[in-house]
Formats: sequence, C-alpha cells, structure tokens
Amino acid sequence: MKKRVVLTFPKESIEEPITYHLIRDYELMVNILSAKVSPNEEGKMVVEISGQKEMLHNGIDYLKKLGVTSEALAQDVIWDEQRCIHCTACIPLCPSHALSVDRSKMLVSFNSDRCIVCGLCLKACPYHAIEIRF
Ligand code: SF4
Ligand code: SF4
Repeated sequence: MKKRVVLTFPKESIEEPITYHLIRDYELMVNILSAKVSPNEEGKMVVEISGQKEMLHNGIDYLKKLGVTSEALAQDVIWDEQRCIHCTACIPLCPSHALSVDRSKMLVSFNSDRCIVCGLCLKACPYHAIEIRF
C-alpha cells in the first residue's frame, strides 16, 4: 500500500527522528517529497509512505500519538499532453521535478509519482494544460 500525505509537526516533535522510526519500527519506505521544517516552529512535510497496510496504519497511529497530523493528498494533477506546447514555462517552478524537459528534443513530460500537488505550475501555464482534480 502506498500513501502520499502531508504531515504537520508541532514544534515539540520537530527533533523526533520520525522517519527513522517509521522505517525501522514499522518497516515502511518513506520518500520525502518536500519539507519545510525549522527548529522551534511548526513543520510541514509531504511524504510518500509505502509498506504493508497494517504497518502503514500503525505508523500513522504512531505519528498521531506524537501530535503529528496527517492529511491525504487527495487531489490529482492532470497534465494534458495535447494542450501542452512544450513552452517550458512551468519547468523552473516545479519543486519536485514532476515536470521535466528533455533538452535534446525540447519535449516536456510529467511524472505524476513525483508530483506533490503544490499547484505552482497551474498559474504558469498559458494553455491550461495542467489542472487539479478534486
Ligand atoms: S503541482 Fe505542478 S509544480 Fe507542483 S509538483 Fe505537481 S507538477 Fe510540479
Ligand atoms: S507551461 Fe503549459 S504549455 Fe508550457 S510546457 Fe508547461 S504544461 Fe506545457
């Protein structure tokens, strides 16, 4: 089972080696897609967690006990290849490199597995080739 979630940490939990415990104690794979964590402040991380269903639920329970809230990334970003004119305007804005360009052919492509649904590319695209579905 695989889940992409937004984790919000209270400042007391910032120093906890959370990903280490998820990996070691719950045998989960944790892929950090983006993180904004600074000491003594609330932090946010977008992570992809995968592993056995029961372990994943147990891992999320462990986070809850620490006061870390998790919200599923329920939205889907859709890239419409027919509308895209490969202008590359969206490329520098994409923080996770979900949108990338093959410079030899000047062709843009989209890898949804890498997308963290930040929405930055939507505003950049003059051809409405990218949309978020709820
Ligand atoms: S929403 Fe757009 S800019 Fe943000 S990660 Fe996904 S593809 Fe990249
Ligand atoms: S900004 Fe829009 S048209 Fe330009 S490359 Fe990105 S998706 Fe394609």
